[in-house]
Amino acid sequence: MSRLPIAIVSAMHHELRALLPLLREPLPVRLAGRNFHQGTIHGQPVVLVLSGIGKVAATTTAVLLMHEFHVRQLVFTGVAGGLRRGVKVGDVVVARQLLQHDMDASPLFPRFEIPLTGRTRFEADAGLADALAAAAQRCLDRPGHLIGPAHLRDFGIGTALVHQGLIVSGDTFVSSAAKSAELRALLPDALAVEMEGAAVAQACADFGRPFAVLRTISDRADDQAHVDFNRFIDEVASVYTRAIVEEWLQHGTRR
Ligand code: SAH
Repeated sequence: MSRLPIAIVSAMHHELRALLPLLREPLPVRLAGRNFHQGTIHGQPVVLVLSGIGKVAATTTAVLLMHEFHVRQLVFTGVAGGLRRGVKVGDVVVARQLLQHDMDASPLFPRFEIPLTGRTRFEADAGLADALAAAAQRCLDRPGHLIGPAHLRDFGIGTALVHQGLIVSGDTFVSSAAKSAELRALLPDALAVEMEGAAVAQACADFGRPFAVLRTISDRADDQAHVDFNRFIDEVASVYTRAIVEEWLQHGTRR
């Protein structure tokens, strides 16, 4: 098996903080204002890093990981707003495809198409997405075991589902029912909205490097989207991410 590292990229501090204690033989490297944490988790060489928020921050991070750290694959973790009906707070979405919902060079190019590439949607690596979805399913069979019954109650989480499909990204925190309804109408198959995944997808496509995006649903991208956001990331999403990443690194990375 290749000893080139796997990148695990977190959008937010809390998530990186949850993963760092798993890292053995840590070797931090500072580059472009970011701390890249090299080391191993369950014997697998990894690089952990905080990307920052938005498409540019995520792209810079992904390019550095591929070009400077030679990662063999990249997994982006974070939270997202649920768009499609049935994608609820506490569920997990694994991307199969990604699209930039704020890309619009019409009428020169069709809406959402990346100009001069002819591409609108980018495919996540199928094997990686399968492995992450399987790991998420194993972890979420009993979400109460992960976060405890009090948190399930506080955040209104009953059963936690793992969805797979289209994730859309743009440089906007979608926090109004009107904006999410517009996205749903334009992109009916979109499961969730966030701010980084499709940018990472485009950069990884340029480098021909496999990637996946794993998101916990923190909100419904509506007028309540900001409520308890940081608490949710700290107490639910970070716990999910750590459990799923550990499960995957221990049992599911063979390719
Ligand atoms: N309050 C946070 C900022 C969060 S920005 C802080 O202070 O750090 C939103 C982050 O969550 C981004 O990484 C984005 O990818 C994701 N996200 C969650 N819900 C979203 C939504 N409804 N719209 C867009 N991005 C969302």
